[in-house]
Amino acid sequence: MQLLKDKILSDGRLLDGYVLKVDNFLNHQLDVALLDAMGAEFARRFAGVKVDKILTVEASGIAVAVMAARHFGNVPVVFAKKTESLTLDQDAYESDVYSFTKQKTYRVRVSRRYLAPGENVLVLDDFLANGHAACGLIDIVHQAQAEVVGVGIVIEKGFQSGRKLIEEAGVTRVESLAILSSIADGKIAFA
Ligand code: 5GP
Repeated sequence: MQLLKDKILSDGRLLDGYVLKVDNFLNHQLDVALLDAMGAEFARRFAGVKVDKILTVEASGIAVAVMAARHFGNVPVVFAKKTESLTLDQDAYESDVYSFTKQKTYRVRVSRRYLAPGENVLVLDDFLANGHAACGLIDIVHQAQAEVVGVGIVIEKGFQSGRKLIEEAGVTRVESLAILSSIADGKIAFA
């Protein structure tokens, strides 16, 4: 998606040579017009795929998923929670995820109320690196005996192994709006 690639080049910043910061349009401040265009692009790429619900993970996936849902007929968005809370049903699906950026394992949870057997679920997230976040969500959908109809990613770091892990989890449909082939030497290159 050219608009997104241009934004990454103009506004993205590289941290420690392996993390791309996109805080001013995706991860902190939000560019609503760009998010809307990304939602439309996901809808175009997954046209013909039956989507009953979109699943993402807090916090950065929520804006992406909500804007995308507007283009999928206002399907409900469910976001996995990262913290235990009294307001979350005790009866939840859970999966452990190793965080690439935080270098630690955390648990994601989704109440059993919000995923039903047989539902067609589209998993969306902001970044794909090693695939642990996406695979945690896929695991939760499978625990609910629902179907993952695809994974949509805003920015895929194509030089990491995330896509392979998702495919090994049995999901063949992975759509990334921008795929980075390298972020070495302070330079961003696209696949
Ligand atoms: P994975 O689980 O695929 O290794 O990493 C995906 C998660 O890590 C995303 O949800 C995202 O929050 C975070 N992440 C991984 N790489 C980057 C990066 O280069 N920049 C930012 N901003 N987040 C990243």
